Amino acid sequence: MFLDLASLRRQGGKQQYRFEEALPALKTEYEDVGFVEPLTVEVEAVNTGNVILVDLAASSTVRLECSCCLAPIEYPLHLKLNLAFVHQDDLAELGIENDLEADDEEYYQVYKDQPFDIGELVAEHLLVSLPMKPVCREDCKGLCSMCGKDLNLGACGCEETTIDPRMEVLRGLLGSSD
Ligand SMILES: [Zn+2]
Ligand SMILES: [Zn+2]
Repeated sequence: MFLDLASLRRQGGKQQYRFEEALPALKTEYEDVGFVEPLTVEVEAVNTGNVILVDLAASSTVRLECSCCLAPIEYPLHLKLNLAFVHQDDLAELGIENDLEADDEEYYQVYKDQPFDIGELVAEHLLVSLPMKPVCREDCKGLCSMCGKDLNLGACGCEETTIDPRMEVLRGLLGSSD
């Protein structure tokens, strides 16, 4: 996914791109998250003088696991990024140090004369946009903690609630009614 920002810098105006690319699985701390379909990326890059503003919209579907019942889920990912690109030679003019501080890095991407590959940047942001606790549905009942049955498929025979030991004491004090 290459953007030819250097020629946009020379010519002015804007460029539009559309990419469709099958990406390798995203590697999270816990698992590899595979894509169900190719990633599509739409990009508009506008030369505003020293800075090229890039609007990017990416979408795909990934395969996750419900954090409650462990069922596989197809989870749609939509990502929007607004980025500002500065050519290395324009940094000084903008009053930005050549070595970007961490603060600047959030605002500016530095590019050189060769086409800029946005693939890695998009993958990084996709990774961060993954939900921490995906669920197959809002009211997922999860698995029984005793027998492991998927409670979405119906109740199991286990005790429904474990009894709070403090309630037991209270019951003893009040005297059992049965
Ligand atoms: Zn679930
Ligand atoms: Zn059970």
